[in-house]
Amino acid sequence: MTDNATTDFVRGAQDIVHAGQRMDARGWVPATAGNISCRLPDGRIAITRSGCHKGFLTEADVITVDLAGQPHQPQNKPSAETLLHCQVYRLLPDVGAVLHGHSVASTVLSMTEPSPALTLQDYEVQKVFEGQTTHDASVRVPLFANDQDIARLAREVEPHFADMPAGYIIRGHGVYVWGKNMAAALARLEGLEFLLACVLERRKLGI
Ligand SMILES: [Zn+2]
Repeated sequence: MTDNATTDFVRGAQDIVHAGQRMDARGWVPATAGNISCRLPDGRIAITRSGCHKGFLTEADVITVDLAGQPHQPQNKPSAETLLHCQVYRLLPDVGAVLHGHSVASTVLSMTEPSPALTLQDYEVQKVFEGQTTHDASVRVPLFANDQDIARLAREVEPHFADMPAGYIIRGHGVYVWGKNMAAALARLEGLEFLLACVLERRKLGI
């Protein structure tokens, strides 16, 4: 690797480590749940390796893969869900970071909502999502059935990419959110999780 490629990897890995700490602090990545990735300037995808706790990541827990999810170093085992990250990078060239977490709100709401999407409406925080300029609109967050066959799950998600400003949720599992860089992706995740927590609270109140 050139010096630049190494420096870019270290920067990306640091972004991932910090994002993991933040997601862990908010309770969105219990046990070894979740994955975090970013696109490096040379097009490689830096992503958390399989099976590590996101609150205690080090640079050694970050590997690189290509857009097809294949590791650049064969001994590095990517998580199965790496394919879902790569799908976002492949379809949305401006995306620089993808976050996946398993929060209580996304898990509970996606297991109890009968319709194919959650609709967020009248919340000021909706404006964190791309293209949303007012609370006075609705944001649709699609729900997809969980599937251990990640390639099949990716095929289900693919037709919806043109209309997922807040990302998507896998039922009983968690959220996928992205942004132009790690800060933007984290802001979007924080906005979505805040809104999901609000929806859950209102449903508990019966309103
Ligand atoms: Zn997951």
